[in-house]
Amino acid sequence: MLKFTQRQVNSSFMKKIIKKANLAGFCYGVKRAIDLTTKIKQDNPQKNVYILGELIHNNQVIENLKNLGIKVIYDIEDIVEPQNSICIIRTHGATPEDINKIQSKGCEILDATCVDVKKVQEKAKSLIQEGYKLIIIGKNNHPEVIGIKAHAEENQTGKALVLSCAKDVEEYIEEIKSAKKIGIVIQTTQKTENLQNILAEVAKYAKELKVYNTICPTTSNRQKEAKNLAQEVELMIVVGSKTSANTSHLAEILSNITPTIHIETEDEIDNFEKQIIEAKSIGVTAGASTPEYIINNVIKKIEMKGDI
Ligand code: SF4
Repeated sequence: MLKFTQRQVNSSFMKKIIKKANLAGFCYGVKRAIDLTTKIKQDNPQKNVYILGELIHNNQVIENLKNLGIKVIYDIEDIVEPQNSICIIRTHGATPEDINKIQSKGCEILDATCVDVKKVQEKAKSLIQEGYKLIIIGKNNHPEVIGIKAHAEENQTGKALVLSCAKDVEEYIEEIKSAKKIGIVIQTTQKTENLQNILAEVAKYAKELKVYNTICPTTSNRQKEAKNLAQEVELMIVVGSKTSANTSHLAEILSNITPTIHIETEDEIDNFEKQIIEAKSIGVTAGASTPEYIINNVIKKIEMKGDI
């Protein structure tokens, strides 16, 4: 039986129960990336420190890093004085091509790719090497998926397909039918339901199927815990960036169980005042890239609404 951190807000008008998920907030991959990035700048104040793309999907964290003098770049050509620079590879990883480009400029690399993302890259590559037609489940334009695909295809003739939902299978039925064997990996922050739905479709056409469930343990445990919490409350609040895959997936999953609000910070609470005041019990969870202080600010503001 899972236990949630519970607070009770009493007022002359109402009693509101607020339950916070234990797995809300930074995962180990995000925490490691932020610690590495902050430390490298502290240890090398004279060097330019760049991050290729946003380290994680959270605007507040990115702003804090920028305030330390760390620059976020989207184009490797924006690295100035490469010999006096360090470029950080974010949690989602990067393509081998980008890594080679940075190195060939003479710029040092600090790899903050999450260990779980590295595992998917390796599994995807080994599937192609073993002759499987590779399917990556995830969003085509997500940096993690772009990196997995590029690592898997590096120096290989085999190409990977990217499927974001079961409906996408229709487009590739002939390719799947003609492949001797199909290998599947999944973006670390995807929903288990999506893996199950796509598998059910692919299995109709594949001769042989090898599946690695590469959803990271943090994501699957967080989803399980949040589902349990959602069954106990009248309203769920998911805190985190709208561009964060794991946060958006949490909100989607929970909205099938109970009314769910997805907000980035406490500033959006006022937009949902009526729902929050009326709910006698509220569950709060957050994505893997949401800082603890933002979750606490949200809870404080909900408590204040409870006192109205
Ligand atoms: S959500 Fe999972 S894969 Fe992504 S950084 Fe966290 S632990 Fe790593």
